[in-house]
Amino acid sequence: MPNGNSVKDSLDVLAKKWPIDSKLYDMQLGMRDDVVDNTVKVEQVIFHVPTLSKDRLYVLWKCLWPECHNCCERQGRLPLTKDDIALLAKKLGYESKIEFVRNEVGISSWQEQEAFGNIITTLSMLSLKRKKDERGEEDGTPLRCRFLDDKGYCGIHPDKPGVCWLYPFTSWLESDKFGKPVVHATYQFTGDCPGFYLDDSLDSIMPVLQEYAPKIYNYNMAVQRTTRESYGFINFVSG
Ligand code: SF4
Ligand code: SF4
Repeated sequence: MPNGNSVKDSLDVLAKKWPIDSKLYDMQLGMRDDVVDNTVKVEQVIFHVPTLSKDRLYVLWKCLWPECHNCCERQGRLPLTKDDIALLAKKLGYESKIEFVRNEVGISSWQEQEAFGNIITTLSMLSLKRKKDERGEEDGTPLRCRFLDDKGYCGIHPDKPGVCWLYPFTSWLESDKFGKPVVHATYQFTGDCPGFYLDDSLDSIMPVLQEYAPKIYNYNMAVQRTTRESYGFINFVSG
């Protein structure tokens, strides 16, 4: 999940540790006027891959872990689906989900804007505390996650929250003309990820999209079940 700091501040922190292509730096700050949406359907997910049209380059991504674990060091929030709650309660040794929620969870609220449209989604969900004594006002601010160890490993992998499997993708549901849900995904540019690069072909990212499509689809279905069963809620507002 993104942190709530300004993207520029985050990028400037990132640039001290990683080389950031100046075109990508400008694009992430909204300083390019030639960014074009390019859609690629992989399994049940429509990916929106930005293109810098003047340079004819796609914005692609690959994860640099274990050299990088910046998303866990600057974690903004960890919203939990109903499935996450069941998994994590067990992982952290709780007898009941209620006890887990009482001790380990807070409430997060945030707004997400669809990448190339104007739908603003307001979400509120239960979130795993990133530090034991996390306070409500820290929601959305970057914190080092308590489960990250010194070597960059996650102490609760593979039972970590679903959202940890998806970064830096963000996704949303739309209905097709028959009313069937369609999952869309794109990158969230929080300024915390050094894994973006430019290429004139989509070839190198296709295995990544194939790996992420089922994760993203299943996560959206889990979020839908979660909100339907009142573990959280979503409001759509036209922007
Ligand atoms: S910040 Fe980006 S490159 Fe680094 S570990 Fe996270 S997803 Fe991978
Ligand atoms: S739970 Fe694990 S993967 Fe998720 S932010 Fe924390 S250390 Fe990273």
